[in-house]
Amino acid sequence: MAEQIQIWENDPASSGLISAAKPNIKRLPFRYTFPPPALAPDPDTTTPNFRYWNAAEALRRGADFWGPAVPDQQWFGGPDLEVRLNVGIRWNANYDRRALNFYRGQLGPGSFVYAAGSADMLCHELGHAILDAVQPQLWNSGNAEAVAFHESFGDVSAILCALQIETMRNFILTSTNGNIYCNSRLSRIAEQFGTALHAIFPDDADQDCLRNAWNPFCYAPPASLPPMGPSSILTARSHSFSRVFTGAVFEALAGMLAVHPPATPDRLRDVTFEMRDIMIEAVRSALVVPQYYASVAAKMMLAAAARNEAYRAVFRDAFVGRLILSLEVAANILSSPTADEDTGVAGEVARHTDRPTFGVLPSSHYGLDQPLHIELPADPVGTAARSATRDGKSIAPLNVEEAAMTFVDRLFMRGRVDYGEFGGKDHKGDKASKNPSRGDSTHRLELVDDQLCLRRIRICCGQCTALRGS
Ligand SMILES: [Zn+2]
Repeated sequence: MAEQIQIWENDPASSGLISAAKPNIKRLPFRYTFPPPALAPDPDTTTPNFRYWNAAEALRRGADFWGPAVPDQQWFGGPDLEVRLNVGIRWNANYDRRALNFYRGQLGPGSFVYAAGSADMLCHELGHAILDAVQPQLWNSGNAEAVAFHESFGDVSAILCALQIETMRNFILTSTNGNIYCNSRLSRIAEQFGTALHAIFPDDADQDCLRNAWNPFCYAPPASLPPMGPSSILTARSHSFSRVFTGAVFEALAGMLAVHPPATPDRLRDVTFEMRDIMIEAVRSALVVPQYYASVAAKMMLAAAARNEAYRAVFRDAFVGRLILSLEVAANILSSPTADEDTGVAGEVARHTDRPTFGVLPSSHYGLDQPLHIELPADPVGTAARSATRDGKSIAPLNVEEAAMTFVDRLFMRGRVDYGEFGGKDHKGDKASKNPSRGDSTHRLELVDDQLCLRRIRICCGQCTALRGS
């Protein structure tokens, strides 16, 4: 029998300890590198040793779950991904294409909550890395829905990876009587970290978790939503807006389980594999258009219907019910899949190798003296997928330049851009290391071929309120 270690079954706030096989840290594919020293396992949950092996197990389990569906069998940056479990004090975690970085939040003198202490946080960040390996075009796209989808994919990753543990499947099926679409410790993402964060920054998390996949939120164009607000309402912030898509996927997961009763632990594990394959197939083929939610949802609906005829209505109802797809579009795409033109493999390969299209934005209102270049979303003419208005009608496609400008305006308004050496005296050198109130920048200005470009440096997953200057 393999050497055993102790891990949290899921989140430290709501789990007990269980035994698990000690993972092989150095295993390929999807290898992780942990900065030395390697620590010996320790069952004391307050020690760095425990967090080290708890994290190693969760990340290995997550990579073993997602890995078989990833075409190139490696991370975006190659065979290795660094994992830094205790970077410093901040209510945050991020993925920056080289590493998964986890911080610790401070509740009081000597009292900390470690982001890396929660399998949900670990597997959320892992989700960013997996999605980046599958669809790297999302990274730099000036596209609010693409960023929000990244966050949703992370939360779905947390849920699906949690369900790879047999005792977790047993618990959820028993406690929900087989209907998993409900408020549970499965739906509540990162309970310990979120609860603590809410106590300090109420807008940035629910009262009992970071986000809940069991939620009532429906689609509305991000540009129509308030830039920020309490977690009880939908806002344009990517984490808030991500809940619309996560809720639909969670509903669909429950629906898949329900079409072939009884809901057994094995059947639940099987639907996690099916959902994984449906999502990966969809993100590989969906165009990164401004209405990216609709674009991915349409591909997921088609992939699900092709896999199991009974899933057709499950996915249609989940996406139409939340206005992610309009009734008319869902019906048309299901009755004639070729209506969504970009389903061919040739088109898919071409999109992955094409150089991105850049748009040029006026930039004096950002304090810059030269035009700013940003990767544009794809032209919506390539897909029939459309989201819906509140009365279910299709929303007309957005102009790609307009979508990119709205996205960039909000980045600057929220202080998410590291100006580096660019910008006037009010901005030059304005970055997190010199101005702590700026927090984590997600983008920076760079010269590429003598053109000033806005490039993503990391995708952040924690507290944002302090960016307003607190
Ligand atoms: Zn995230």
